[in-house]
Amino acid sequence: MNYRHVYHAGNFADVLKHAVLTLVIEHLKLKPAPFRVIDTHAGNGSYDLSSVEAQKTGEWLDGIGRLIDAPLPPDVACILAPYLAAVRRENAGHAGALQRYPGSPQIARSLMRADDRLVVNELHLEDNARLTTQFAGDPQTTVLAIDGWDAVKALLPPKERRGVTLIDPPFEEPDEFSRLVQALRDAHKRFATGTVILWYPIKDERAVAAFHAQLQGILAARLLSVVLMVRSPEHLGGLPGTGLVISNPPFTLEAKLEVLLPFLKNTLQQGTGARAHIEWLRREQAVT
Ligand code: SAM
Repeated sequence: MNYRHVYHAGNFADVLKHAVLTLVIEHLKLKPAPFRVIDTHAGNGSYDLSSVEAQKTGEWLDGIGRLIDAPLPPDVACILAPYLAAVRRENAGHAGALQRYPGSPQIARSLMRADDRLVVNELHLEDNARLTTQFAGDPQTTVLAIDGWDAVKALLPPKERRGVTLIDPPFEEPDEFSRLVQALRDAHKRFATGTVILWYPIKDERAVAAFHAQLQGILAARLLSVVLMVRSPEHLGGLPGTGLVISNPPFTLEAKLEVLLPFLKNTLQQGTGARAHIEWLRREQAVT
């Protein structure tokens, strides 16, 4: 477990992942019934952008750094409002300067209502200790330290029977695409109506195509794929792209992403070959 998210916090991949997470949560809030957010690989919840680690890569400068004060077309402003509000709340007290970046646990928590629940799981001892401190005394949040790959089986279905599960592994091991497929299969078996967001980096587009093909073999799930390449993968160094697969996405998500993605591509691009697209891997719920 060498991966530390502080080096990457607030980068373009976090922007896409966290914007989509906020859209899913805001959709869940349209109904009064409570929901549960489960974060299987949670990180430490809140990151200091002035830390040695964050400054070393400076990845956030090309992510949230480009977005936070960018002029936004009105439709994009509306779509990004909950996400940017969560980032601004994290920076309240810093006189408008961007000093901190909220991780997925903090973003989710800041959007929840009084009866909603959050379960954050993180295996790294230091990050888990930070989460434990951050959420100490919060009756709506549970912090766990189990293997994230077991979390789906252990935590689904949620008592509320409504919610979203974020599966956001570090991609340190070669088999993590297969593990994502298995995790979605497990999630679906246990909680067929729940939304799941799978995150992955794009370094090798053939591996991504194989991953998508495997996911299409999963019965019953509606699967929306979102890809953002900030430059061509042929350019060396750094991460050229990121993707999400969302199972059981809210029915409004596709239309929002059609507006948001071209804006993100233009704002976050780092070189030639930037592109973004949305695609249904499976549009209909299969009859089983
Ligand atoms: N979800 C976070 C966010 O969006 O702010 C970022 C999470 S980061 C990409 C992946 C995290 O998974 C790291 O903090 C790492 O320590 C943790 N991790 C790695 N292997 C794990 C495992 N088997 N179970 C749970 N957490 C793990």
